[in-house]
Amino acid sequence: MDVVQPASGRRVSPRHATLPVHHEGRSDRPGSAAVSGDRGVRGLDRILELQELDLAIDRLSARRQELEAGEDLRVARERVEGLEERVGETRLALDSVEQEQRRLETEVASLEAKIAAEQRRLYDGSVANPKELESIQHEVEALGRRKSHIEDDVLSQMERREELRDRLEPRQAEMTEARDRLTEIGGESVKELEDIGRALAERTAERAALVPAIDEELLELYEDLRAQKKGVGAAALEDGVCQGCHQKLSPLELERIKRSEGIRRCEYCRRILVLA
Ligand SMILES: [Zn+2]
Repeated sequence: MDVVQPASGRRVSPRHATLPVHHEGRSDRPGSAAVSGDRGVRGLDRILELQELDLAIDRLSARRQELEAGEDLRVARERVEGLEERVGETRLALDSVEQEQRRLETEVASLEAKIAAEQRRLYDGSVANPKELESIQHEVEALGRRKSHIEDDVLSQMERREELRDRLEPRQAEMTEARDRLTEIGGESVKELEDIGRALAERTAERAALVPAIDEELLELYEDLRAQKKGVGAAALEDGVCQGCHQKLSPLELERIKRSEGIRRCEYCRRILVLA
C-alpha cells in the first residue's frame, strides 16, 4: 500500500507507508501501541532531540578524524621545517661571508707587513742605489693601492654580514615560536582527543537511552533521510519556515500540515517537520 504524497507526487516506500504520513485524521494503524506523544506517533515529539544528538556526534566524530589524521600537526610541522630551512640558508651565507672577511683581513695584515718592510729598506740606509730606491718607492705605492682595494672589499663584506645578521634574528625568533607552537599543538591534540572521546561516549549513551522512545518506522525514515540529506532528517517548522531547507511553506501547505496528524514532511526537502 503506497501512499502518494500530494505535495510532490512522490511515492513513499512501502516500509514507511504504514506511518500516518500527511494524511488527514488520526492514525488508525492497528497495533500501533505508540499512540502517545505527538499526534499518535511515538517519539515524534523527541525526534529533534535525537537530531541534535546525532549532529553533535557527527561533529565530534569529524573533529576526531581530523585530529587523528594530524592535519593541524602537519601544518605546524611544515611551518617549522620551512623556517628551519630558511634559517639554515641564512646561517650558511653568514658563515661564508665571515670566512671571506677573515681571509681579506689576513691579506690586509700581510700587505701591511710587506709595506712596513719595504719602507724600512727605504730609510735604513741599506739601499743606496737611487734607481733601486725609486723602484722600492713604486713597490710601496703599488702595495698601498692593493691594500686599499682589499680594505674596500672588507667593508662590503662587513655590510653584507650586518644585513644577514639582521635577517637571521627575526627568522630565528619566528622559528622558535613555530617550534613552541608545534609542541603545544601536539599536547592540545592529545587533550582534545581525550575530551572528544568522553563527549562522544556521553552523547552515544544519551542517544541509546532516547532511541527506544521513538517509533521504529519513524526512526528508520529519519535515518534514511539523514543519510540522504547531509545528516539532517528532521527539522523544526518555525514561523512557517522549514529549518532544514530554510524555505517558507506555502499558506495552503501550512494549513494542511496544521490540520494533518502523524508525520509531517517538508514539501520542498521532504524532511520530517516538527511543529514548534
Ligand atoms: Zn524543508
